[in-house]
Amino acid sequence: MLNKTKHALVTGGAGFLGSHLCERLILDNYKVTCIDNLFSGAEENIKPLMKNECFQFIQHDITQPYFIEVDEIYNLACPASPVHYQHDPVKTIKTCVQGALNMLELAQKVNAKIFQASTSEVYGNPSVHPQNEQYWGNVNPIGLRSCYDEGKRCAETLFFDFNRQYKINIRVARIFNTYGPNMLPNDGRVISNFIIQAINNKPITIYGDGTQTRSFCYVNDLIDGIVRLMKNESILGPINLGNPEEYSMLKLANKIVELTNSKSKIIFQPLPQDDPRQRQPDISLAKKYLDWAPTVDITEGLQMTINYFKNYQS
Ligand code: NAD
Ligand code: UDP
Repeated sequence: MLNKTKHALVTGGAGFLGSHLCERLILDNYKVTCIDNLFSGAEENIKPLMKNECFQFIQHDITQPYFIEVDEIYNLACPASPVHYQHDPVKTIKTCVQGALNMLELAQKVNAKIFQASTSEVYGNPSVHPQNEQYWGNVNPIGLRSCYDEGKRCAETLFFDFNRQYKINIRVARIFNTYGPNMLPNDGRVISNFIIQAINNKPITIYGDGTQTRSFCYVNDLIDGIVRLMKNESILGPINLGNPEEYSMLKLANKIVELTNSKSKIIFQPLPQDDPRQRQPDISLAKKYLDWAPTVDITEGLQMTINYFKNYQS
C-alpha cells in the first residue's frame, strides 16, 4: 500500500453503502481496509477497487475481534434489509452488539476515531413526525424487527458509554432509507424490488395498502453526510442523515412504473409485522453543524438506479 495520509477501516465495506464509502475514501486520499463476511454484500461491489493499491479486502466477521492499526473506523457491517436481517435474527443482534463492541475495543487499542452507522429504525413506529434526534422512539422490543432495531439502539448506547467512560472519539449517524447502485437484486428493500419488478414487467408488490411512508436519500448524498460528520469536531451525534422528501409506497410504485415505461400492475400483499407507518427525518442538526442537505432529487436518483439495474441484468 502507498504511504497515504490516513488509514481507514470500513466494516461492511462490500455492502451497498460500504462499497460507496470505500470508493469515496480512496478518492479522498485514504488507504482503505475493507472487512466483510459477504453475508449481504458482494465482492462484485468492490471489484473496481481491488486493483487499487490503496485498497485491501479481508473476509472477516465482526462478531470476532480483529486487530489492525488504523486512524479511523467506519462501522457499517450489518444486514440492513428486513429480509436479510430477519433471516438469522440472533446473528443480526450479535453483529449489532458484539460487532460494535469489538470495533470500539479496537478503536480504544489503536486510538482511532470511530463512526457508527445507526438507523432511523431506532425511532421504531414513530409517534413524532418528522423525527428529530431528541425523540426516544417507539420500538417493540420482542417483534420481528427487534433484532435490528434494539441491536442498533444498544450499539448507540455502547458508543456513547465508550465516549463517556474511555474518551473514545465517536460519531453516530441515524441513516434514513437510502438507495442507489450497488444494492443487490435480491436485497429485498422496496426500491430495488419495485425497479426489478418494473423493468421485468412483473407485478409490483405493495405490502399493506401502500399508504405507509418513507423518505428516500440517494447514496452519494448520504456518503457525503457521513464524510462531513467524521471530519466535524463540534458534534458527535446522533445526527439524522436522510432526504426529508416523504413518499407513500403507492406513490413510489407509480413513479417507478412511469420512469421505466413498465406494463407492471400493482398487487397488494400482507403488511409485515411492526412495519413503521411513517418516516421523515428532521435534518436541522445536519444542516446546522455539517452544512449538509441532500442534492439529488428522487426522479434523478431513481433514474440512475434504474440504469444500474438495467445494466446489471444484461
Ligand atoms: P448491506 O446489507 O448492503 O451491507 C452490509 C454489509 O455488512 C454487507 O456487505 C454484509 O455482508 C456485511 N456484514 C453483515 N454482517 C456482518 C458481520 N457480522 N461481519 C462482517 N460483515 C458483515 O446494507 P447497507 O444498506 O449497505 O447498510 C450499511 C449499514 O448502514 C448497516 O449497518 C445499516 O444498518 C446502516 N443503514 C443503512 C440504511 C440504508 O437505507 N441503506 C439505513 C439505515 C442504516
Ligand atoms: N415494501 C413494499 N414492497 C416491497 C418491499 C417493501 O411495499 O416489495 C414496503 C415495506 O413494507 C415498507 C417500505 O416498503 O413499508 C420500506 O421497506 P424497506 O424494506 O425498503 O425498508 P424499511 O421498512 O426498513 O424502511
